[in-house]
Amino acid sequence: MAGANHNLRQRLADLKTKTSVLEVQEVDRDAMTKKTVQLINAYDDNVTKLTYGPIKMLDKGSLETRDDISENPVDFDSVMQDLNDRLVRAGVIPGHPMFLGFIPSGHGTYPAALGGFLPAAFTTYSVVHLESPAAVQMENRLIKWVADLFGYPAGHAGNISSGGSLATLTALAVARDSRELKAADFHRCVVYCSEFTHYAVQKGLRAVGMREAIMKTPPVDKELKMTAAALERQINDDKKAGLLPFLVVATVGTTLTGSVDPLNDIADVCDRHQLWLHVDAAYGGFFALCDEVKQLFVGVERSDSIVVNPHKGLFLPSGVGVLVVKDGKKLQECCFSEQTSSVFKGMQFFSADHLSPCELSFELTRSFRGAQMWLPLKMFGVGVFRAALEEKLLLARYFYGKLKETGEFELPLEPEVSVVVFRATAPPGVDINNFNQQLLNDLVSDGKIFMTPAELYGQFYLRVCVLCFRTHIEHIELCLALIREKRGHLWGSFQSNAL
Ligand SMILES: *Cc1c(COP(=O)(O)O)cnc(C)c1O
Repeated sequence: MAGANHNLRQRLADLKTKTSVLEVQEVDRDAMTKKTVQLINAYDDNVTKLTYGPIKMLDKGSLETRDDISENPVDFDSVMQDLNDRLVRAGVIPGHPMFLGFIPSGHGTYPAALGGFLPAAFTTYSVVHLESPAAVQMENRLIKWVADLFGYPAGHAGNISSGGSLATLTALAVARDSRELKAADFHRCVVYCSEFTHYAVQKGLRAVGMREAIMKTPPVDKELKMTAAALERQINDDKKAGLLPFLVVATVGTTLTGSVDPLNDIADVCDRHQLWLHVDAAYGGFFALCDEVKQLFVGVERSDSIVVNPHKGLFLPSGVGVLVVKDGKKLQECCFSEQTSSVFKGMQFFSADHLSPCELSFELTRSFRGAQMWLPLKMFGVGVFRAALEEKLLLARYFYGKLKETGEFELPLEPEVSVVVFRATAPPGVDINNFNQQLLNDLVSDGKIFMTPAELYGQFYLRVCVLCFRTHIEHIELCLALIREKRGHLWGSFQSNAL
């Protein structure tokens, strides 16, 4: 027995020695941090240079056999250098000022990046109040700040999740429960949105068990906005047909065109028919900070729930989305169960004064995402974000005006927030859709700029979304110059082909 114990102790001592590398020593931490900062500085240097485009299609993007995970350690510098080469030099860089495709997101400011790093180093457990009261209170303050921005009264609650899709899924679950819908009726339940609503709504419905629910998209107006009249007509028809209307999703800033649905009119309809109004402001929400577009948000305070993405409008690294529910109890009832609390039995984990994230979301263990939002908001102050977002609004308007002035482009929609859709007119006899598809290919293929298309009215359009904090007037000027230059070449090539 004594011998067995001795062997066990010897084995434990060996294992302790073997695993001691996990506790990285200060001198090594310094070296690692130095190398990391060097790589970040090189990245920042590059993305702020106009000559270094957002698109880098080098071979290094794909992994090789030597990249297999194995028993053997690899030294820090080469792992980091490799990571840098693959992540920074290949693919598309959303943090680049000339990244104007999709919705530019995840382009973190440096303090926001530190807000991701520090809680990882401090192992903050921002799940229950007892374990990390300050972290929980910080997140609740941030949620209150968002709720105040949209005029939600006291009594709201929310959570900071990985992004708009998860936040939307949670909102749908709360709407479902608050209407006390039963699975046997799901096939009769109707969700109203527009054809431009983000597909996160459909994904979310599936995830909350409502795959059979009916999604209706009443026709939009010329500006691609939902209209209260068409919405109400559809609701009345559906009620007559024995269906169960329960939810309307309105969007502030659709992903494709940046259109904003008329919230106040839609809220009237929801009031009359007792429907849950959810606002998807994932992209457009933080423009509420700007006086220029205040009128777009009239009525937002009448919604039941809202989603905004700090990883879009507040320039945070990817992975931060906020949901706020006006009646916070409904969120708590949806997410919390007696069983959850039994995990924490015997200790005062919860606080009567401060709700904990695990009471308000489907997650338990989670990263302290609030730090990524807290650090930059505190350090820069809200005014800087307001200014940066105002700059994006004005850049989109400038871009729109300049393109229009040339007479060479069609611009079907005035920008409401920071998206502009447009297409070039085509030479006589040339298909306009092909011409613009080719124009986009030419623009993207030289790597200086990244843009994505938009299909509208069954036609091919080009689209620019200005949201990266690094995008300024010189980048929009360059973008305009590139578009006009490529269009000129393309036009010329069609003419010489015709000769
Ligand atoms: C980006 C976006 C979403 C989805 O958000 P993720 O953070 O990517 O999950 C939902 N709705 C709108 C309008 C968006 O622009």
